[in-house]
Amino acid sequence: MSLYAELHRHLGGSVVPRVLWRYFERNRPDLSSRFPDYGAFEQFYTQPRNTLAEYLELHTLVESVQTHEALPYFIYRLIRGAYIFENLAYLELRYTPYLRTPEHLPQNQRIEAMAEIVEIVGQASQQPEYPIVTRQILCMHSRLPYAVNQAIVELAAQYPDYVCAVDVAGGDAQYGDRLEEFIQLYQRAQSLGLKTTGHLYETVEGCHPALLPYLMRIGHGIQIPLRYPELLREVAARGQCLEVCPTTYLKTGTLSEIHQLKEVFDRCFEAGVDIAICTDNAGLHNVRLPFEYENLLTQDVIGFDALQTCQEAAFRHAFAWPHNLPPSTLLTDILQVPSPEPPLHGAQTAALAIS
Ligand SMILES: [Zn+2]
Repeated sequence: MSLYAELHRHLGGSVVPRVLWRYFERNRPDLSSRFPDYGAFEQFYTQPRNTLAEYLELHTLVESVQTHEALPYFIYRLIRGAYIFENLAYLELRYTPYLRTPEHLPQNQRIEAMAEIVEIVGQASQQPEYPIVTRQILCMHSRLPYAVNQAIVELAAQYPDYVCAVDVAGGDAQYGDRLEEFIQLYQRAQSLGLKTTGHLYETVEGCHPALLPYLMRIGHGIQIPLRYPELLREVAARGQCLEVCPTTYLKTGTLSEIHQLKEVFDRCFEAGVDIAICTDNAGLHNVRLPFEYENLLTQDVIGFDALQTCQEAAFRHAFAWPHNLPPSTLLTDILQVPSPEPPLHGAQTAALAIS
């Protein structure tokens, strides 16, 4: 038996279609009535998009209903599903808190309202009946103004029990002329003791080498082995881990078939760069973490040894896993079938030697 660590999952994309549909039926008939039935909704919700930008539009649909009243409803179901169906022992959940605050408020009041969102997500994630070590990653956003992103970094540092890191999201093609801003914000995050990750080198438009040194893990990063393999040496030297989310690249049109990922894994392994396999948006894709693993195996992208290497890497690069070893190491000892003749203790051995 294995327990897994998930390092890259967006709160907005974590709601499986059934749960979202039921919520709409109960609370937002204006949204559910746009579709003739559940099947039509699921088709709309999970179908591949042409570009990353179109794909991200879908997030706004979910974000709009993940208000502070509804968040516990979604998070309870998220944690329950992750425990029961995905065997998660560790989960880093990421989102942009500003986008969960009431839209009608002015910016400064929305900034103030973010702390409550962090507390709600933190409290709702702790469910004794489904024990998973959970932390939040707060996402800066490429479409939000500097002041908001700055407030997100400061807020992250104020909740060390709930928040482990900051990220930047919103499409890596959008950072272009704001790179200096994000570099400053990452420097500030590091000075506050926060861990760092960021969506980078996901698409061909998102390759910004200047930002790379500030990230402890790289959100996606697949364009590094695919198009800039010469960077792999420094990525390995910095101990950076790639968060590879296989289904995403097919849903966003970044890759045309999953087998293209073989080159990503092969080149990273060869260069000594760790990869954690993640879901990104398990609900939106309707693909849970064990199925990401299984798809890679059945499509011959990686073998079982490589899979286990990646699963262990996920725990090693987890920002807040509280143990030195992954849980499978502890479980193996407990689950080991006892041999029919238990080994002799020292005293018994001595007695036998005398007789
Ligand atoms: Zn992502």
